[in-house]
Amino acid sequence: MPDIIQLLPDSVANQIAAGEVIQRPASAVKELLENAIDAGSQKIQVIIKDAGKTLIQVIDDGCGMSETDARMSFERHATSKIRTAAELFSIKTKGFRGEALASIAAIAHVELKSRLRERETGTRIIMEGSEIISQEPCSTPCGTSFAIKNLFYNVPARRNFLKSESVEMRHIIEEFERVSLAHPDVAFSLHHNKNELFNLPTATLRQRIVNMFGSKYNQKLVPLEEKTHIVSVNGFIGKPEYARKSRGEQYFFVNNRFIKSAYLNHSVSSAFDHLLARGNHPSYYIFLDVDPETIDINIHPTKTEIKFRDEKAIYAIVNSAVKKSLGQYNITPSIDFEQENSMNIAPLPKGGTIKAPGIKVNYDYNPFEQEKKPSGRSESMRGNKGQSSQHWEDLYKISRQSDEEKSEKQEIFRKDENELESKDINRVVFQLHRRYIMTHIKSGIIFIDQQRAHERILYEKAMQSLDKNRGHSQQQLFPQTVELSTPDYELLKDLKEDLYQLGFDLENFGHNCIVINGIPAEAVNGNIKKIIEDFIEQYKFSVNNLKLSHSENMARSIARSICIKTGKVLQAEEMMDLADRLFACEMPYYAPNGKPTIVTFSLEELNEKFENK
Ligand code: ADP
Ligand code: MG
Repeated sequence: MPDIIQLLPDSVANQIAAGEVIQRPASAVKELLENAIDAGSQKIQVIIKDAGKTLIQVIDDGCGMSETDARMSFERHATSKIRTAAELFSIKTKGFRGEALASIAAIAHVELKSRLRERETGTRIIMEGSEIISQEPCSTPCGTSFAIKNLFYNVPARRNFLKSESVEMRHIIEEFERVSLAHPDVAFSLHHNKNELFNLPTATLRQRIVNMFGSKYNQKLVPLEEKTHIVSVNGFIGKPEYARKSRGEQYFFVNNRFIKSAYLNHSVSSAFDHLLARGNHPSYYIFLDVDPETIDINIHPTKTEIKFRDEKAIYAIVNSAVKKSLGQYNITPSIDFEQENSMNIAPLPKGGTIKAPGIKVNYDYNPFEQEKKPSGRSESMRGNKGQSSQHWEDLYKISRQSDEEKSEKQEIFRKDENELESKDINRVVFQLHRRYIMTHIKSGIIFIDQQRAHERILYEKAMQSLDKNRGHSQQQLFPQTVELSTPDYELLKDLKEDLYQLGFDLENFGHNCIVINGIPAEAVNGNIKKIIEDFIEQYKFSVNNLKLSHSENMARSIARSICIKTGKVLQAEEMMDLADRLFACEMPYYAPNGKPTIVTFSLEELNEKFENK
């Protein structure tokens, strides 16, 4: 049998390659835009006719090409961007495969005009089906213009496969948006059949997003920023209330290249957990900067999928960066924060004098004690307290189990939790400035903000109680009466049922007075009147200023009113207990108002500080 294998002629090989790279007009737009970016352009114009079937033209003011390079650019595997295989792993340009122009030229009529900046004349090349029809000198502005005419003229199957004009145009706009979002420092315009669809001046990222999607976007955006040695995260996320049913604006850029990643999308979406209505999708414009050596872009001809070396870490970092921004956004208009360290001083009544306060301190007081060993005043109460303690232990167990199930998502939390040398005699805790709990973990030290930590714990507990319709009330031996203003009285009356679920057993006494028969076990040793007043204050503030659900308002307010405050001296055991309970929370890293509860210093960070001095 004779030898039958033959090399395909270039024109055929290019057509096959084109099938992978150029699937539709939008793919050609993408490749030409990327080439213009790689050429260092400041201004890029895109002109489209008939959704790309008749004309796709991209004009840039970049570096331009010499006569020889202009011819070479259409050869397959001809690129100025890499020279060795090793460089495949340090790619900083959009292109590197040297395939796009060869592919486009194989399936279209192409006119290229290009001029190097330092030359007076440029060069003009006409191509048809991979063949150079002509090359001649021409006068043209510096930079490059590619005009792609009659795309797929020689591949009728593909041409017939194209969707309607509006669908193809949508794809073109999508590619245009991806590239121009990634490069706000470059001006872009897009024309279709003589209509100007976009005209984007150079701008900041925020301005670019607003110019592209509309002025309403300005108020929707929350900045995102996180720097680690693996990745820098930058960009914006859309506020939860603007989330939509359609998966609209979800953009990941890695080293300014748009990529698709279901995995990272999951990381962002899960950070939005509970903040979005069912079926709504968050919008985001997230830029990841990584060392090019830690990614592989060469896994797909269109370069929209990449492999990260530290995929899991990046997942966790993106997730926590988004959570952090969401948290910061939540508190922006909040009184929560100012209240934290300020004292509430009531105005002096007329004719009143100031008396030095008499303070009674119970040095044996342990706010956690009631959960562990009831100091009960009656048998029935003891039972009640026992139940509460059991509840907490259960919660702890459940949390640990479900943590394991939640696997990756919670990995970063679990790590710290496991690192806490739990219940170990060697575990040392300090209280600093009556505000922070300091303890060591295997890889460094950790600071916990006592008030925020307790708020987080109480908040999650309250959300659960509201969910399950049951709270744990601690009956008062001597019910107290609190007198309120009329509006506050009315408010509490309205909230009575919910408050009951949270452990407050209130009775209307009339004349703006309420009787407090029971309070949450956690609040047993606090000043009841103050707790009620704080609750009302915080609730009113939340309702007016934060767009939260009713139960969240309740949970936040209750947590805020009964939590251990900054300034309270804590015993070692209480601190350890607080830390353990914090790590049993679903989201231990942030207080309900989004402020961090925990700050860690790794040994590396400490060492670095000592080295640098
Ligand atoms: P790649 O971008 O992967 O290198 P292409 O086929 O897209 O491959 O382009 C081939 C080469 O042509 C590029 O490496 C570059 O040197 C040159 N080139 C293409 N477009 C432009 C442009 N707009 N301005 C300057 N040079 C260009
Ligand atoms: Mg290219």
